[in-house]
Amino acid sequence: MPELPEVEICRRTLERHALGQTIEQVSVLDERILEAVSASQLRNALAGRQLRLARRHGKHLFALHSGDGWLHLHFGMTGDLVAYDEAAQQPRFARVVIDFYSGRHLAYEDARLFGRVALASSPEAVISERKLGPDPLDPAFDLAAFTTRVSGRRGTLKTALMAQEVIAGLGNLYVDEIVFRTSTHPNEPIENLPSRLYRRLYAAMKNTLLEAIDLLEQDAEYPGHYLLPRREEGARCPRCPGTIRKITVGGRSTYFCDRHQTLGRPGGAR
Ligand SMILES: [Zn+2]
Repeated sequence: MPELPEVEICRRTLERHALGQTIEQVSVLDERILEAVSASQLRNALAGRQLRLARRHGKHLFALHSGDGWLHLHFGMTGDLVAYDEAAQQPRFARVVIDFYSGRHLAYEDARLFGRVALASSPEAVISERKLGPDPLDPAFDLAAFTTRVSGRRGTLKTALMAQEVIAGLGNLYVDEIVFRTSTHPNEPIENLPSRLYRRLYAAMKNTLLEAIDLLEQDAEYPGHYLLPRREEGARCPRCPGTIRKITVGGRSTYFCDRHQTLGRPGGAR
């Protein structure tokens, strides 16, 4: 499922291959992908326009067009953006295709159709309507803001980090990786977290996301010291002699080490 790093790669694809080019036409191949806009409205809004700016907020991607509105993309379970030059390269599950006068094409593909293509008056309108929290990579989202938002929640560490109204863009896989790096149990109640943990959590969040973006950009594997390639019950922990366990938190499969992820517990890691 695309999380923030995958959507950031889509933002870069859009920026590299589509900005500054004039749109010749827009083809909607499956109208089920559209949200609150018809195929003809989408075509009319974009044809003859240029895309001027690509902006990401959490898992949402926005492109400002020269008609002074925004294209809004959400990637659901299997969404992706693909740029190509030859029509024959069109992805199998392309749902919307933008053709540019330059001969380039940009396809929004989505095999399972849980993503959405829409128009928006502004990113701020979407953020406000969906009550999205700050983007974790926004420079203005500092340690103090992070600490205030997370410590003000009830529930467990993992459910707080997953809540899009707390922080926009963190999802199941990367939250497990972040929590793993801080040696904390994913089900630790927020009120049990020591205040010194917040600095570690904040750093782990930023580092995990930035590293993941770099790895995706290079099409590289996750390094061996990550939890991500070991999401399997009974796997060996890459950091200690412990064992990786699978539990369900908030309905989501959650993996953690049964030995070193004990920070905040009596007798646990320090
Ligand atoms: Zn371990």
